[in-house]
Amino acid sequence: MHELSIATAVVDEVRPLAGADVVRSVTLRIGELAAVVPEALEFAFAVAAEGTALAGAELRIDTVEGRARCDGCGREGPTGMPPVLWCEACARPLVLLSGRELEIVRLVTAPGPGPVPAAPAASDKERSPTRR
Ligand SMILES: [Zn+2]
Repeated sequence: MHELSIATAVVDEVRPLAGADVVRSVTLRIGELAAVVPEALEFAFAVAAEGTALAGAELRIDTVEGRARCDGCGREGPTGMPPVLWCEACARPLVLLSGRELEIVRLVTAPGPGPVPAAPAASDKERSPTRR
């Protein structure tokens, strides 16, 4: 599953950056030619983030349009989706300028709870000596 390996890589990369903080949101730049299904990535991200500082973080996706240029005639424009990678004017292969991005661009964190305190166990109370 392509998206799960991407989500796992994002979580692995963000965790050391977040340190002890809690991650509120992660913004990715994803080219429309990167063959990523946003809905599948969001789902995979939630799964990969579980049990980490990223648990519950919002995944934001900035989509980057695929653009290409023809070295023959200099025409430049969107590749469209599915992409057309040859020049309609002179039939030369186009040079891809953008659309294959897959990067983390922004991270929003909040101070974390720090080391998890020992949960106040009910048994502590029961063990306490009763006051008279
Ligand atoms: Zn051309």
